[in-house]
Order: sequence, then structure tokens, then C-alpha cells
Amino acid sequence: MASYTPMIQQYLKIKAEHKDAFLFFRLGDFYEMFFDDAKKASQELEITLTSRDGGAADKIPMCGVPYHSAAAYIEQLIKKGYKVAICEQTEDPKAAKGVVKREVVQLITPGTVMDGKGIHETENNFIASVTAFPNGYGLALSDLTTGENLTVFIKRIEDVISEIYSVGAREVVVSSSLEEQTVVQLKERCGATISIEDGETDERIEIAEQLKSQELMTTFMRLYTYLKRTQKRSLDHLQSVQVYELEEAMKIDLYSKRNLELTETIRSKNKKGSLLWLLDETKTAMGGRLLKQWIDRPLIRAGQIEERQEMVETLIAHLFEREDLRERLKEVYDLERLAGRVAFGNVNARDLIQLKESLKQVPAIKDLVASLNHKMAKERAERIDSCEDVLQLLEEALHEKPPLSLKEGNLMKDGYNQKLDEYRDASKNGKDWIARLERQEREYTGIRSLKVGFNKVFGYYIEVTKANLHLLEDGRYERKQTLTNAERYITPELKEKEALILEAENNICELEYELFAELREKIKMYIPRLQKLAKQMSELDALQCFATISENRHYIKPVFSEDHVEVIDGRHPVVEKVMDSQEYVPNNCEMGESSQMLLITGPNMSGKSTYMRQIALISILAQIGCFVPAKKAVLPIFDQIFTRIGAADDLISGQSTFMVEMLEAKNAIVNATKNSLILFDEIGRGTSTYDGMALAQAIIEYVHDHIGAKTLFSTHYHELTVLEEKLSQLKNVHVRAEEYNGTVVFLHQIKEGAADKSYGIHVAQLAELPDDLIARAQDILKELENTGTKPELPAQEPKSAVKEKPAQLSFFDEGEKPAEKSKLSKKEKQVLDTFKSINLLDMTPLEAMNEMYKLQKKLQ
Ligand code: ADP
Ligand code: MG
Repeated sequence: MASYTPMIQQYLKIKAEHKDAFLFFRLGDFYEMFFDDAKKASQELEITLTSRDGGAADKIPMCGVPYHSAAAYIEQLIKKGYKVAICEQTEDPKAAKGVVKREVVQLITPGTVMDGKGIHETENNFIASVTAFPNGYGLALSDLTTGENLTVFIKRIEDVISEIYSVGAREVVVSSSLEEQTVVQLKERCGATISIEDGETDERIEIAEQLKSQELMTTFMRLYTYLKRTQKRSLDHLQSVQVYELEEAMKIDLYSKRNLELTETIRSKNKKGSLLWLLDETKTAMGGRLLKQWIDRPLIRAGQIEERQEMVETLIAHLFEREDLRERLKEVYDLERLAGRVAFGNVNARDLIQLKESLKQVPAIKDLVASLNHKMAKERAERIDSCEDVLQLLEEALHEKPPLSLKEGNLMKDGYNQKLDEYRDASKNGKDWIARLERQEREYTGIRSLKVGFNKVFGYYIEVTKANLHLLEDGRYERKQTLTNAERYITPELKEKEALILEAENNICELEYELFAELREKIKMYIPRLQKLAKQMSELDALQCFATISENRHYIKPVFSEDHVEVIDGRHPVVEKVMDSQEYVPNNCEMGESSQMLLITGPNMSGKSTYMRQIALISILAQIGCFVPAKKAVLPIFDQIFTRIGAADDLISGQSTFMVEMLEAKNAIVNATKNSLILFDEIGRGTSTYDGMALAQAIIEYVHDHIGAKTLFSTHYHELTVLEEKLSQLKNVHVRAEEYNGTVVFLHQIKEGAADKSYGIHVAQLAELPDDLIARAQDILKELENTGTKPELPAQEPKSAVKEKPAQLSFFDEGEKPAEKSKLSKKEKQVLDTFKSINLLDMTPLEAMNEMYKLQKKLQ
């Protein structure tokens, strides 16, 4: 250390306190990085790695970015999940004795970015914090851009992860004592950056005062301490912490949210194609964020749902008012984030103009809502505080079109401040005097092109073109500058006035800046009221969005029942939109008394998965208060939805498809209640036939006997349809397909009873596999059907779909059943012989596995 130069020593000292961040070390017009930071940053940002002397024998690796374009580089690093510590010079380099003082003024992290491309208008940017307690976990969420704070106590880490994932938090703050295994899970399953905060504080903060639970208090205070430590500036806009409970909303676990494509599609992870995309008719950024929150947490109390429904219904009934409301909301800017910027002190005059324009819309919006012919709407209107005093203040203070810069004046209106008016008068008088001077001198000299100009170097001057110089009387002005075709002059009087004007203008700029800062402070006091208004506007926006979608797409109002489902002509909202509603075949769904479970059979591609998803999406739409795509919909209020739908592997955790399938099934079986909705799509597909069928049957039986949840179970195992006879709550339905001249037409229509055929070959035909191949497959199928090698339906024994002694196991007791043996093909016999000759005791488990794998491949 000692051999380094003082500046590098200073760097190392600061860096030691910010080991987990890139240290952007201000050096003149650059932020420089050194040592490992430099090496890593040069790769991540694709900038040149250089080196410099630092006193030690070896040169120090270094790279840097210009100060004025640093924002883009910081954004790139944050996007990749890194943190950046901004270290500024905190004294004037000219005044410094020795090394200039430097300090970290802000730590930018994925969860605390305030602007730039990393922030989506219509998405929250939550940072989370998790604390483990003996009986569960505290979770706190905070969005610095909007000031929202939430906290919840959760029993299982699974649900914590699911919650963090669904709100999209990119950073999780934990104490260094949190179990390693939990940290790894948070990091990998949520894809979040982990930050450590061990600092303790006894500070009583107002926004957390109402927290009764010590666990929630500890959890929130950890997050607050972290924000305070890293942001080093005002957090005045943070709103009261809201406590919520997972049980207050319909629970949809992580897998199911993905499977149902609620806010992003499985394949591309884009909003386009998701339910959120379909619904998003919001006009404000705040409304867009609220809509996403609503979709993430559907309601489970009938009263709350019906309150939204009634507003939606009223808005549908009042088309003109609704259109008007939409037009007005379009003019309302992001009040929540504006409030955040006010608190952070980085709001500019144009932001405040946006605030003003937004506030101007509010009284009309309030009137509109009051004019809707409904008690609830009227009450809602009454609760709106239009913040007219804020509007008035802004109107009196701010210029209509202020510049971006706060240092050039032109921010404040005339008449707002007396001193400012005086300065402006002085400046204007001076300028008038100059205009007069120009007129007088033109007249006097007879030079029509004579003009008085201004530039930053010479100030005011009188300019005469060379061609006119002969008209100018000697010694009238003092020569200042010679141009190619003109001469510039000054006079003592002109300079005198100039001094007055410049002084006045300087005063104006300084005073305006001061006045603006004062205005900003004043607005700060209104933040809580503005935030409340923001909430009200975003709710109205989300409700009008529901009304608009419901009307445009011909949705109807669902009715809630105790226990049964009756959906007539239901449609899948997203598929219907994508495929043009003319072609979508609507379907009914009835579940109740003796049909809590539907076993759905039908050929591939016939629409089983779509049908199942459709029911789930209709239920979710109903429970967020929107209308639903159907002619009639009676639904219970579901407490949870579970899905197992054939989707891509869980790439993040690297689990195999079948393992994921089983994990999802387990999740449903462990947590579902009789008020839940379960979708099991072709469960057991990921393993061998008998294995899969056995599991499928056992799962159906278990759900039937122990849970009683509404369950849709699709399967390609036709053998399972016999279960209808055994299980009182299970009913068979199938998707209709018809055969015309050897090709299959899918009618996408759900009918009662079981499907009779699988039509797999026809799908292959649709996929345009070679004709020869298709013909061969048809031959084989015929052969199999004739020889009866196909697994038989257990006709005599309807109790179980799976044969007690499936063919696979017959390898071991072939002696007892010579009849079975004779049915073996040549290949199968070979495999069996090989198997017999294997010396298991000489093999390692892995070798045994490999051998088994080869044998199985042969059989398949
Ligand atoms: P399965 O799960 O039975 O293999 P899918 O649900 O994946 O079938 O649907 C197969 C195709 O049929 C999809 O491309 C889907 O767009 C279309 N489809 C499904 N249901 C309908 C319907 N009710 N009306 C029109 N097209 C449908
Ligand atoms: Mg399917």
C-alpha cells in the first residue's frame, strides 16, 4: 500500500468499503476504474483497458468513461445486475492541498435506479428485503421511483420466492447471517442481485409507525437502512408501509403464473401475447402499473370484486363519459414518479409543468366521475382531492415553456416575485435603451445597415460594414474588432449599459434558480396528497381499461356462486384475439355436484390445453373485477390456482422436464384446498407409459379423495377414462374431432364422454411428414390393433386403469406366463437376453444406468 501514490491509496481505501460495486472514481472529466474493476468493466462495457503508474513497480490496470456520457454505461452495468458506486470530488481541485477529497455520493443498484432505460414506465421497480424468523420470513418491498412500500409475513420460502418473482424485484437485501442455501435460492430462482445490510437503527420513522409486528418492522427497517445508506439523499416521498397477507389474494404460484402467461409469454418472455398485453387499455403509466399489480393479485372477497365490477358496469353504460375520461387521463402524467423526483430533488421545470398539466385535468375528471349515475362513482368522486392549491401555485410561479436547464433563467413568471420583476425591468430598460441607440445612430450616420449586436467575448458592439465606413465620422466610436467585411465599435455609454444589463441578467438567473429550488421545497410538502391523487387516478384508469376491453371484446359480467362452475360459450381471451374472433370455437364448462373433476381426452392439437387455460383465465379475469369472454359465467371464488401445463423446462434451475412436472404436481397436491382450481395437463407424459399412467391415476384419485378441488385433467391415456365409473366426482369430456376422407378436422369443441381415438398419425400428417412414413405408421397401427399388442382396456376390472401386472414387469416372472413370452418381438427378445447376461455385481451404478439406458432405447 505504502508504495502507491496518495491518490491510489485514497482509491484503495474507498474501494475497500465498496467491494461489491464498481467504483466510478471521478478524475477531472472522467470516471476512472482501476485494478480488477477496470479489467471487468472493460469487458462488460467493451471499452479500452489501459494502465497508469501508481507508484508501485507494476502499472495499474485502468479504464474510464467520460463524465457526461457515464449514465449510459452505468445503465448497462445495472442491467447486468451489478452495482455502481459514484465517487465524486468533494472539494475544488484548485483549493485542495494534496489529494483532492473524494467521497461516494450514491450507490446505484438494480433495485434503486431512478431513471434511464432500466425503468419501464408501466412497471414498478421494486427492491425487496427478506429476513428469516423461526416461524417464517418477513418480506418488505419498496419502489423508490413511486414511493410505495409493502410488507408481508410468509411461512414458506417457496412463496417468498414466488412473490419476489411476480413483483419483478431485481435486488434482494438480506442480513449476512441469512442461510447460505436461502441466499442461493433467492439469487438463482428470482434472478436477483443480493445485497447485504447488517446496519441497525433505532430511528423511529413515521411511515413505519403503524407496523405492529416486530418481524415486519425489522424486515422493513433493514430495507430502509439500506436505502438510506446507499442513496444518501431525501427519502421523503416514501409512503406509509402497507401490510398485506398472501391469503388476501388469490394465490398463483410462480410456475402457474408463467404457465398461464399472465404478464409475459413463456417463450419470449415478452409482454406481447400475455393477458396483461391483451388487457392493457390504460392511458397512464400509473394505471399500467396498477393493472399489473391487480393481475398479480386477484381478489378473493366477493365484496371487493363486486365493487370493481359495478364501476366497470357503470363505465360501460356511459360511453361518452368514458371516452372523455380516457382523453383526459391521456393528459395525466406519472404523478407518482413525479412526486418521487420532487423528493429526490432531481425534478426540473418541465417536470413541474407536466405536474401542472396533469392537475389541470383533475377537476374535470372529478366531475365526470360524479356525473356517472351511480352511488359508488359519486362517492369515489367526492374522495378526490384535486390539489387545486398546488395547481394555483404552479400556475402563478412557472413559465409556460421553461428550458430544461435550471441555470439560464426563464423559469418563473412575471409578477411571482418582486425582486425578480425589478431585475427583469432593469434588463428590459437596458435593452430598450440599446434598441433606441441603434435607431438614433442609423439616423445620425445615415447608415441603414448599422446594427448593435452582442457576443459573449466582446459584449455589446456597434457594427458597420466596410462599404459604409466612409459615412462614419472619425472618432465617433471606439474601434474594438475588425472582421473581413465589417468593423465593430463600442462607446463608453454602451459599455455602461452593458454592465447594467449583464448584472441584471446574472441576478435574474441566480434568483430564478433560488426561486425554483424554493418552489420545489414547497411542492415537497404536497407529496402525500399528490400520491393519494395518483392512486385514485390509476384506479380510475384501470377500471376504465376493464370497461373498454369488456365492451370492445364483448365480455359479460360474471356471477359468483358457492361451489359450481357454469361457463357458456367461454373463450380464451388471448387466443381469441390473436386468431381473429370469427374462428375461435366457444366452449362450455360445467363443474359442480358430481363433476368436481373433468377428465379431458382428445387428439393432439384438438384444443385441450387451450380449454384448460381458458377456464383459468376466465376465473382470473373475474376475480380482478373485469368482465369475461363468455355468454354466461357462474364461478366460485377460487382461493388458489395451480397448473401443470406442458411448458419449457425450468431453465434457470436446470431441472429436467419430468422433475419440474412432479414438483409442480406436488405443489398443487400439498397446497390446494377444495376451493382451489387445479389444471393438470397430460401429467405423466415425461416418463414411460405405465409409469406415467400409474402416476396419473394415483394423482387423480388422490385429488378426488383428499382434496376435492375443481380439477381439469387432460390426458392422452384413454385407459384412464374408465375411472369415471369408480370416482363419483369425475366426469369424462373430450374434444371433438371428425374424420373426412382419411383426414382429421379438429372442431375444438368440448363434448361429454370420452374420446374414442387418438388421431396421432393424423397430426403427423398435418405436420407434413413424408407420405411413405405416414402410410407405414398406419400399417403398423393396424397390425398392432389386430394382434392386440396394444395395452388393453381393463374391461373386466374397471376399478383400475393400470393393469395390476403391467407388461414391463413381466420380465421378471416370464416363467409363470409363457403366453406373454410368445408375444415378444425379436428385438425385445434380444434385449431380454442381453439383460440376463449382464453381471450386475461387476458394474458401478453409473455403468448399470448406462446399460439400462441403452436397453431401454432399443425397446423404444
Ligand atoms: P392440445 O392441448 O389438445 O394438443 P391445444 O390446446 O394446444 O391442443 O390447441 C391446438 C391448436 O388449436 C392451437 O393452435 C389453438 O390455437 C387451436 N385451438 C384450440 N382451441 C381452439 C378453439 N376453441 N377454437 C379455435 N382454435 C382453437
Ligand atoms: Mg396440450
